[in-house]
Parts: sequence; C-alpha cells; structure tokens
Amino acid sequence: MKTGKLFVFSAPSGSGKTTLVRHLLLQNLPLGFSISATSRTPRGEEKDGMDYYFLSEEEFRQKIEEDAFIEYEEVYQGAFYGTLRSEVERLWKEGKNVLFDIDVIGGLNVKEQYPEETLAVFVQPPSLEELEKRLRQRMTETEEKIQQRLDKSATELIYSQDFDVILVNDNLAKAKQEVVRLVKEFLRS
Ligand code: ADP
Ligand code: 5GP
Repeated sequence: MKTGKLFVFSAPSGSGKTTLVRHLLLQNLPLGFSISATSRTPRGEEKDGMDYYFLSEEEFRQKIEEDAFIEYEEVYQGAFYGTLRSEVERLWKEGKNVLFDIDVIGGLNVKEQYPEETLAVFVQPPSLEELEKRLRQRMTETEEKIQQRLDKSATELIYSQDFDVILVNDNLAKAKQEVVRLVKEFLRS
C-alpha cells in the first residue's frame, strides 16, 4: 500500500481551521482533503461526499462495528464524527498527502497511530473573545450550538501543548503564509 504524509489541523470551532485548510487546497501541492463521516445534518451549502459523508446515526454505528474508522468520536452529544480508513487509502492511492480538519482529540489519535508521518497543527484563536466573535459572525449555528462550542473550547486549548505546532490565527494573511510554509517544509522532510 502506497502511503503519504498526514497533516492534522485541529482547533476549537471558529478558530479558522477550515479557512486555512481551504487555502492550502488552492495551492499547487499534492494534497487531498480527508472527508470525514458525520451523523450531524448538513448545514448551509454543505454537500454529501464533499464536506462530509453524511450518515444516519444507525449507519455510523454500523461502521463502528465494522472497524471502518481510524478514529471516531461523539464530538457533541448525539453528533458522531470520524475518519474512515477507506478515505485515507483513497487519497494515498491517488498519490496525495492527506489534510484533516478534525477535533482536537481525533487529531491526536491520528498522530498517535501515524507518529512519523503526521504533522499535527493546532490552530489557536488570539483569544476566547475573538473566537466567540468569529463564531457569531459566521452565522451558521444556533445560540445553543454556539454555547456548546464555546464550552468545549477552553478544554481544547489545554491540548494545544501536545501538537507539533501551535499556529496563532490572528492576522489571516500571515496565518495563510505560515501554513503553506509549514506544509512545504514537512513535505520535503
Ligand atoms: P473553524 O473551521 O475552525 O470552525 P472557520 O474557518 O469556519 O473556523 O472560521 C470561523 C469564522 O472566522 C469564519 O467566518 C472565518 O471567515 C473567520 N475567520 C477565520 N480566520 C480569521 C481571522 N484570522 N480573522 C478574522 N476572521 C477569521
Ligand atoms: P462542524 O460540525 O463544525 O463541522 O465540526 C464540529 C467538530 O467536529 C469540529 O471540531 C471538527 O473539526 C470535528 N470533526 C470533523 N470531522 C471529524 C473527524 O473525522 N473526527 C473527529 N474526531 N472530529 C471531527
């Protein structure tokens, strides 16, 4: 089986990891996005097989039984998220290195399974106040969901120490430049 490198981007929701991952995918680099499976419902313009593989909770549990996941978690109550083995294998077969936009614990689980091949990047918001502002400005969540995400973020920040790199996403243009530099450097290593 042909393998490649793995780039994990984890952060509290609203830190800007999706923005940075999308930026990386626009570069002319051999990178592919690992589409996660989730049991939550699509939001906004999200499409099945593009942003996520949207599964019912029953389908998700079936895949857990089949050991189809590299890692999975109930990130929020009733909402499962996981990385399918078949997804990483698909990208490796295409000669791509894999980008993950996943939860902090999931990110560290990937790193634990592939320590040499993984660069784990923690995207840190400049402050919790700014994080809240970004989540509100994104206007994709209900007030209850915003609160759930904010409650989780304080704990997530503690895990930042276990990542290879902490990237503070304050000035977006600078963070974009830095992320491209980090990825290129690890691809060469
Ligand atoms: P995540 O994927 O971590 O949940 P997003 O990439 O969706 O976060 O970013 C959350 C919101 O913050 C989005 O509306 C995005 O446009 C905005 N954003 C991202 N980075 C910055 C930044 N450096 N400064 C201000 N706003 C930002
Ligand atoms: P959202 O619902 O905002 O798309 O994602 C909620 C959280 O689930 C985010 O922190 C996101 O990074 C995380 N997530 C997305 N995919 C996965 C995955 O495959 N595994 C894990 N552990 N978390 C994921």
